[in-house]
Amino acid sequence: MFLIKVITEYKNINLDKTFDYYSDVEIPLYSRVLVPFNNKEIVGFVTEVVEGGKSEFELLEVKGIIDEKPIINDELFSLATFMQEKYLSSRIQALQTMLPPGLKPISKQKEEVIYDLYIEISDSDEKLTEKQAEVLGNIKKESILKNSVLIEKYKTHMINALVKKGYLKKIKKKRELVLIDEKEVKFLELTPLQEEVYHKVINNDKTVSLLHGITGSGKSEIFLHLTEYHLKQGKSVLVLVPEITLTLMMQEKFASHFKNEIAILHSRLTNAQRYQEYQKISEGKVKIVVGTRSSVFAPLNNIGLIIVDEEHDSSYKQSSGLMYHTNDIVIERASNHNAKVLLASATPSIVSLTKAYQKQYQYLVLNQRFFKQPLPKIELVDLNYEPINNIVSNKVISSINETLKNDKQVIILLNRRGYNTMIQCRDCQETLMCPNCNVALTYHNSTKTMSCHHCGFSTRNINNCFYCGSTNLKRLGFGTQRVEEYLVNTFSETTITRIDQDAIKNIKQLQKSIDDFKDKKSNILIGTQMIAKGLDFDSADLVVVLNIDASLAFNSYDAIESAFTLLVQVSGRSGRHSGEGKVLIETFQPNHYVIQRAQQHDYLGFYELEMKQRKKYDNPPYYKIALLLVSGEDENKVVKEANSIYEYLNENLKDVIIHNNMNAPIYKLASRYRQQIVVKYKSIESIKDEILRLKKSYGSKKGVSLTIDIDY
Ligand SMILES: [Zn+2]
Ligand SMILES: [Zn+2]
Repeated sequence: MFLIKVITEYKNINLDKTFDYYSDVEIPLYSRVLVPFNNKEIVGFVTEVVEGGKSEFELLEVKGIIDEKPIINDELFSLATFMQEKYLSSRIQALQTMLPPGLKPISKQKEEVIYDLYIEISDSDEKLTEKQAEVLGNIKKESILKNSVLIEKYKTHMINALVKKGYLKKIKKKRELVLIDEKEVKFLELTPLQEEVYHKVINNDKTVSLLHGITGSGKSEIFLHLTEYHLKQGKSVLVLVPEITLTLMMQEKFASHFKNEIAILHSRLTNAQRYQEYQKISEGKVKIVVGTRSSVFAPLNNIGLIIVDEEHDSSYKQSSGLMYHTNDIVIERASNHNAKVLLASATPSIVSLTKAYQKQYQYLVLNQRFFKQPLPKIELVDLNYEPINNIVSNKVISSINETLKNDKQVIILLNRRGYNTMIQCRDCQETLMCPNCNVALTYHNSTKTMSCHHCGFSTRNINNCFYCGSTNLKRLGFGTQRVEEYLVNTFSETTITRIDQDAIKNIKQLQKSIDDFKDKKSNILIGTQMIAKGLDFDSADLVVVLNIDASLAFNSYDAIESAFTLLVQVSGRSGRHSGEGKVLIETFQPNHYVIQRAQQHDYLGFYELEMKQRKKYDNPPYYKIALLLVSGEDENKVVKEANSIYEYLNENLKDVIIHNNMNAPIYKLASRYRQQIVVKYKSIESIKDEILRLKKSYGSKKGVSLTIDIDY
């Protein structure tokens, strides 16, 4: 008999302990089982197996075994413990965060396997027409015999005719990820400056190197060379990139060099695809993983190097469930594997740069563009004086004109999607708000709807005021759709591509839009921050930034840092190859230090000014922040609970700064009212016990819930 210790799928912190069961057959460690619990059958995760083990209680039997072998290894199990302790969560929640769909220790998940149709060449005696024989000959020369690809090329009726006559056969195959680009890209030789960085990363005594390389300095070339070096040492390499657009570019670069040694993970994969990639990695079939945030949990063995590209990017922070920061997990895994970490960015996060200044990280600088082109010239368009022609200033219009005339391309950044960003009633003066959130509705012209960008609410009732019924509505503010329409009318000779969440529904569409602009099928690209990072276009010489002022107005301590980063990143898209890049920033606040420092390409100057603000307001890196969010449908209850939590913490915590409870930036979201309490601390030890106590008591409270973001 085996004594089996399991943790249950319930992530409530009060149940974060092992429960004993028995089994007559041996069960693998770190696998999932079905066990009876409170008269229900639930999923458990095996943390210990003791042969002949005894218990003082009468044990229930394990009902079923889900996995034939362990689903994680020792290293990842210890990582779960690290996360549990660091983020004050339960261990099962850490495991549920780490594992891909299909392997999560949780009930009610189905594993979907997707099949694709392929064509197999077969023999037959049937007579073929001349045309059919020709097509068959061509198909025999094809390297990829995927049905959908062939149909597009040779037409459905032709393929079907050949199938009917027996020359082709349709078969189904489990979907494998087909890499997007088969183009062979040559390894470029490193410049002496890049080479220096390369050697310093390899020979560093410190675990972490921070590479501060200006846009266009060829950071990804260094990544490729470092990857090759570690593969030759028999090690594996993990490459993390921010969400979506950058995944594609990096994927393309890595895939063309390291064809079969690479697995790709990002959030747009189906569950089945993610599951398959995960299995491939854990079976050791690949040595390189390129992916977004959650790939930090990829079950690679023998890791030699972890690269975090655009390390400052906000997508590295998980913002729901267990709210971890990828960089923390990266450093923990590197120490498990005795591996090196390379954090890279043109605008390192304030927190990382501080660590580099304090010599916790090795600080590496690359301040020359790859082909030695100068950084673009940045001009401000002061909207207090500059006449605005409808939507954008005359100055912007004439610059676009000039750029197009020189056969160059234009990128326009506006970080608001939709058509109008606000609808107001002229009779009762109310702004039309989402019924579930206190957020103004956005008008979308393409769908003729008003929608909420926070909860998904959408209505076709666009002609009447919700509050007084008046039809006298005015639409204010503009988003990417409105600007696109304006540009289409103004530059009618030019094709325009728009990239934002509404225009782009899947990765294929995104790739096509990027390719269209790359191939100059369109000459103006307008988009939200999706277009700001990583993209590299030969002829994009003009970048225009609209309404940056909105990005300076958010009320979170790091909004300023994000706005600065956005400006630097998007400016960096300009003149990468011609060296004649120009950037125009429209603003009502030309003297704001973010805009001033961005204009001078002066990151370190910005850093100093921003650090003064951080110090003044006790923000990171001077203090760490725990953000407690109290939410519920009953407004009175929420406020009452937030009050009492504030008072409790105020009485019981020492050496911390606690801000009185106040409304969250979005006070009502998806029908729930939200209040927050900010706790600033130097060491987690000073808040740990009380936070855990609060979490335990809220695990069971009805009506009000408490979520806590440690190290917010
Ligand atoms: Zn009204
Ligand atoms: Zn809403």
